[in-house]
Amino acid sequence: MGRTKVVGIAGRYGPRYGVSIRKRVKEVLEKRYAKHVCPFCGSVGTVYRVSVGIWACRKCGAVWAGAAYTPRSELAQYFKGFIIRPDSFPARRGK
Ligand SMILES: [Zn+2]
Repeated sequence: MGRTKVVGIAGRYGPRYGVSIRKRVKEVLEKRYAKHVCPFCGSVGTVYRVSVGIWACRKCGAVWAGAAYTPRSELAQYFKGFIIRPDSFPARRGK
């Protein structure tokens, strides 16, 4: 990529959309691609986003519903009961 001094990762959008919205997109994208801590096995950097709001861990195989751009939303602290434990995830059965 070329020079993306101001907007960093949002430089992928080139000159489009205007600088202020690209700066805001940068905030979101940096959070999305940051090294996240797996809430199940605690490893760092193994968490990736499967789809919008769906997060998975390469190490322990856990899949859970998080926020659209971050593995855990601020709301998650109020909804702990909705966390799916890794051992209840179908892909783990039979291992
Ligand atoms: Zn994990």
